[in-house]
Amino acid sequence: MNTQPDIVIFGAGIAGLWTFHRLKKRGYDALLFEKEAIGCGQTLASQGIIHSGLKFAIAGKVSTLARSISAMPEIWRSALKGEGEVDLTTARKAADSQLLLVPGGLIGNLSKIVAKKTLGKNVREINARDWPEPITQSGFKGSVIFMDELVLDIPSVLCALAEPYRNAIRKIPADISADPMAFLESQNIRAKKIIFTGAASNLPIAKNHNHDRGLEVQHRPLLMGMLEPAPFPLFAHLVGTSEKPVATITTHKARDGALIWYLGGGVAERAKNAPVQDVMTAAKKAFASYLPDLDLSAVRWSALPIDRVEGKSRAESWMPDTPTLHKAENCLYAWPTKLTFAPMLSDMILNELDKEKITPSETVTDWSFLPPVSYGQAPWDSAQWTD
Ligand SMILES: Cc1cc2nc3c(=O)[nH]c(=O)nc-3n(C[C@H](O)[C@H](O)[C@H](O)COP(=O)(O)OP(=O)(O)OC[C@H]3O[C@@H](n4cnc5c(N)ncnc54)[C@H](O)[C@@H]3O)c2cc1C
Repeated sequence: MNTQPDIVIFGAGIAGLWTFHRLKKRGYDALLFEKEAIGCGQTLASQGIIHSGLKFAIAGKVSTLARSISAMPEIWRSALKGEGEVDLTTARKAADSQLLLVPGGLIGNLSKIVAKKTLGKNVREINARDWPEPITQSGFKGSVIFMDELVLDIPSVLCALAEPYRNAIRKIPADISADPMAFLESQNIRAKKIIFTGAASNLPIAKNHNHDRGLEVQHRPLLMGMLEPAPFPLFAHLVGTSEKPVATITTHKARDGALIWYLGGGVAERAKNAPVQDVMTAAKKAFASYLPDLDLSAVRWSALPIDRVEGKSRAESWMPDTPTLHKAENCLYAWPTKLTFAPMLSDMILNELDKEKITPSETVTDWSFLPPVSYGQAPWDSAQWTD
C-alpha cells in the first residue's frame, strides 16, 4: 500500500480544498486531512461574496488590496463555467450581483461619487423607478447602486471541490490533530511537502516545530447576525460614513427551505461573547434607518460567534492585502485572508512546488482505508433561534 503521497494538506476549508483540487487535477497524489468536517470553519461561516475590490474602493481604499483582489472574480467565474483551474460547474451562485444602499445627504453623496469615480463599468446607479420593488416598499431614501459582484452558495462550492476526490479527503482524529506530524509518523505517511491550511491551528503547529520565526497571525472577532424568515432575497451593503458598511446582508436558503438573512459588516463587529441581543439591536437600528418600513415583528434571530484568522496586517488596513504563505523546512503555512483569494493562495503554493521541482507523480492512491470525513453545516442549519 502506498503511503507516500506527493503532498499532504491539513485543513479542508476553502484554502485547503482549492489547492487540493488543483493539485489533484495536475496529477499530484495529494491527501487532505480535516479534523472536524469539510468547510466547518470560516468558510461555511462566510457570506460567500467574491469581492472585486469595489467595496474597498468605496471605502477610499483603492489600495493594493483592491487591486490584488480585482483579478479574482474572473478566476471564479471561469471555474463556474468549467473553464478554470478548478471545476466549479456543480456549484451554485447565490446572486450575480449586489446592491449598495447609499442614504441621501452629503456623506451619502460623497460615497456615491467615490463609487462612480473609482468603479467604472461594474457599478451603476439604478434609476429610482427601476429599483427592486421590496427596496421601494421598505421606504429606502437615497441611491441604489448596482454592483457586479458574485455571491456563491458555499455548501455547493465545497461539494464541487471535494466530491471528485473524496477518497483522498480523510479525517485526522481530533485528539491528535494538534500534532499532525506525529499523526503522519504514526501512519507511516511521508510526503514531499506538508501544507497547513487550518486557520487558527496553523500558528500553534508552527510553534511546536520551531517554524514560527517571523510568523505573526491576527484574529478578528465577529458576532454575525441571522434572522429568519428573510423578508425578501437581498444582497446589499448598507453604506455609512465609515470605511466599513453599517451592515452587509446576504440571503441563504436553510435545509428546511426557509430564507435567512445573514448579517455582517458593522453590526457584526463586536466581541464574540456579546449577547445575541446586541446584534439584534444594532441590526434593528440599521434597518430602521435604511429600510424604515420593513416589518420585522415576526422574525426570529440568531448569532454566530466566529474569528477571522489571517496573517498579521503590515499596513494600516485591517487585513493583509494578499494571502499569507509562511515557509519552514518542508512545510507551508497558509492563510487566504479572504475566501476570494483562494486562487491566489494556490498560485503561491504551486509556485513554491515548482521552485522546489516537486512535480506530480501521476499516482492516484485510494486513501479510503483512512477514516472518512463529512461535510460541515451552514450556520443557519445549526442555529438556535430566539424571538
Ligand atoms: C463571518 C465571516 C464572513 C466572511 N465572509 C467572506 C466573504 O463574503 N468573502 C470572502 O472572500 N471572505 C469572507 N470571509 C473570510 C473567509 O471566510 C476566510 O478567509 C476563509 O474562509 C478562510 O479559509 P481557510 O480555509 O483558511 O480557513 P477555514 O475555513 O477556517 O478552514 C480551516 C479548516 O481547517 C480545519 N483544521 C484546523 N486545524 C486542523 C488540523 N490540525 N488538522 C486538520 N484540519 C484542521 C478546520 O476544522 C477547518 O475546517 C469571511 C469570514 C468570516 C469569519
